Amino acid sequence: MAGIDIEGLATVYPNGVRAVDGLDLQVADGEFFALLGPSGCGKTTLLRTIAGLETATEGTVRIDAADVTRTDPGKRGVAMVFQDYALFPHMSVSENITYPLKVRRVAAATRASVASRTAGELSLDGLLERKPGQLSGGQQQRVALARAIASEGKVLLLDEPLSNLDARLRLEARTFLKKLQRDLGITTVFVTHDQAEALALADRIAVMESGKLRQLGSPREVFARPANTFVANFIGSTPMNLIPGRITEPVDQGDVVVSVAGGSLPATTFVAVADVEVTVGIRPEYLTLTTNDVSGPALRGTVLVAENLGTQSLVTVDCDGTLVGVTVPEEDEPAAGTAVTLTAPVSRVLLYDRETGELLT
Ligand code: ATP
Repeated sequence: MAGIDIEGLATVYPNGVRAVDGLDLQVADGEFFALLGPSGCGKTTLLRTIAGLETATEGTVRIDAADVTRTDPGKRGVAMVFQDYALFPHMSVSENITYPLKVRRVAAATRASVASRTAGELSLDGLLERKPGQLSGGQQQRVALARAIASEGKVLLLDEPLSNLDARLRLEARTFLKKLQRDLGITTVFVTHDQAEALALADRIAVMESGKLRQLGSPREVFARPANTFVANFIGSTPMNLIPGRITEPVDQGDVVVSVAGGSLPATTFVAVADVEVTVGIRPEYLTLTTNDVSGPALRGTVLVAENLGTQSLVTVDCDGTLVGVTVPEEDEPAAGTAVTLTAPVSRVLLYDRETGELLT
């Protein structure tokens, strides 16, 4: 088992694209770590640079405290699962799983026992003699994982491991992967562009944009306190409301009232915010909708439309021209045109610098 230590890492392609642009991060021993970000943000390049399939232009990669920045991929002690699984079509499942051992000239009897043990761990019993073409997508994905695990790397690298599966299989495979990682305790880095997948699986998430790290934290941290408006926009199945506002009382820090279109919201800040134009961040799940009068800071508006999300509805309220989303239990869905009031607990209202987009609270 091993941790990964990345320092000042940059990977520049020959065409000049700085796909990874000055990154520092540490992955702890045994951690399940997600690289998350939109298409083109550099997450696959970072994974491939850790694996040694791309060459770092600047900085260092250490695995288990050893500097592997210039080490061949085969000698880094990493096992990688590719997005398309990269199975050998002419080999059986058993031969696919034990291929890395064959390359290392491990004896046939040992290989057979590793194949049967790993197949057991990954629920592939009974499929060892089949060819990849005779397997479902989910089974192929598990063979690719089995091959990576059987190679006994110190670190497991997964590039969008669930993206080739349909929605239902994907949920099943997600649970399976989480349990497997926990049981094996192997340090795992996985790439995904799916924020729900990262939130569900990872111990910690690195959110990337344009080759840079925008936030590093637990799923709870990145969901509840996005460090900037980029992360706020990216995380959450219903997007966070980001509303332009102005702090009305001339205070430096502490409890403040922010005036926004349609009314005001309470907030707390620990940095000097007097005379700062802000963006107020509030998740639809943390707003309360009522048709009653309320005292204290609140937003007033008219229901524009409601979308059914299953047990919840996402209601869009027009607050003086600014559209604000709020989730309500499906049975409480108000009709379009209803005049409503929205309130939020002070602990859930985030303030971002309007210019830089960085968190002020
Ligand atoms: P996706 O989710 O779409 O796979 P990603 O976040 O994994 O995206 P990368 O594939 O790492 O992003 O790409 C990062 C940047 O580097 C992009 O701008 C991409 O166009 C560029 N890039 C990727 N591979 C190469 C290459 N071989 N040569 C030149 N540029 C590349």
